[in-house]
Amino acid sequence: MKDVNIAWLVKPNIRSLRAYQAEEVPCKVKLDANESPYSAFSVQRSAFSVKKALQLLNRYPDPQATSLRKLMAKELKVKPKKILHGNGSDELIYYLIATFGGPVLYPVPTFSMYGIISQALDERKVEIPLDDEFDIDIEKTIAAIKKFKPKLIFLSSPNNPTGNCFSSNRILKIIEGAKGIVVVDEAYQPFSDKASFTPLLEKFKNLVILRTLSKIGLAGLRLGFLIANKDVINEVNKVRLPFNVNSLSQAVAIDALKNKKQMRSNIASVISERKRLFSSMENIEGITPYPSDANFILFKTANTEQVYKNLLKRGVFIRNMTAAVKDCLRVTVGTSKENKIFLKTIKDIS
Ligand code: PMP
Repeated sequence: MKDVNIAWLVKPNIRSLRAYQAEEVPCKVKLDANESPYSAFSVQRSAFSVKKALQLLNRYPDPQATSLRKLMAKELKVKPKKILHGNGSDELIYYLIATFGGPVLYPVPTFSMYGIISQALDERKVEIPLDDEFDIDIEKTIAAIKKFKPKLIFLSSPNNPTGNCFSSNRILKIIEGAKGIVVVDEAYQPFSDKASFTPLLEKFKNLVILRTLSKIGLAGLRLGFLIANKDVINEVNKVRLPFNVNSLSQAVAIDALKNKKQMRSNIASVISERKRLFSSMENIEGITPYPSDANFILFKTANTEQVYKNLLKRGVFIRNMTAAVKDCLRVTVGTSKENKIFLKTIKDIS
């Protein structure tokens, strides 16, 4: 084979980049990726629209995802023109950074894709550590905004991997103080009793909200939404690939969103399971769970590597967070049965 030095060809910012770590590990109980344990789509109830989409696979999908955006707009109580669809919200994060560029500011620890995509697009990253309560360190953040003048600020609230919502007044201070775009990533908002920031779009032109269907039972579809004012939407739409959301994803999501009752009851089940899981974890010696507004719980334990490996050996797959938060692992809320298996296994090995 002809020898070519690929590493030499690659741009330096990509050469030093580490790809997103998401392993597929054979396991009995999969609680690593903040997915819903319940699908929001019923194959038996599957509507005519999905069958029609299957028959029309020779055609490109609706590039504007008109029906889907209309349904989502109704759900979020905004106008359809304020919504942009993405192949997962990951793609919309990519589009935002491609559109506005850096510096890109975000608190840490947080969702790793803000940093990975910034580096992939060769944009400067400004990372501000959260305070001891996992809340935004407002003095440091405001000082960094003044110093670096970020074009984009990402705030995941509820935050992944810590699980908490940031204080609304601190988020508000940032939106008011920043000259750049402030993205409130509400991937886990459906599991929180704190209000969404969408109504504030009326007041702030620099506010962007991100939502996803991935955490509420449709991760396999890859569907995310960006909600913002028309000027922002128009600019981001220029970098969007024309057929970024395929026709099957559109049809299935439309069907699932029409059956909101099922979706809502799944979310309610996750919330009540989270409460049960949290109080059981509080009673296990040696582990300290952190309160969560999301569909996962971060917890502290001694010998994290060992605990993680021993759980995996017994078929329970969770996420090792030690690289981001010292001595911490993250478990997704599963079904009652899955949570029981996790609790029994961690008790046995602790
Ligand atoms: N934002 C946050 C905070 C996340 O945790 C995730 C998924 N882990 C995403 C966005 C991306 O979600 P998706 O691309 O599946 O919509």
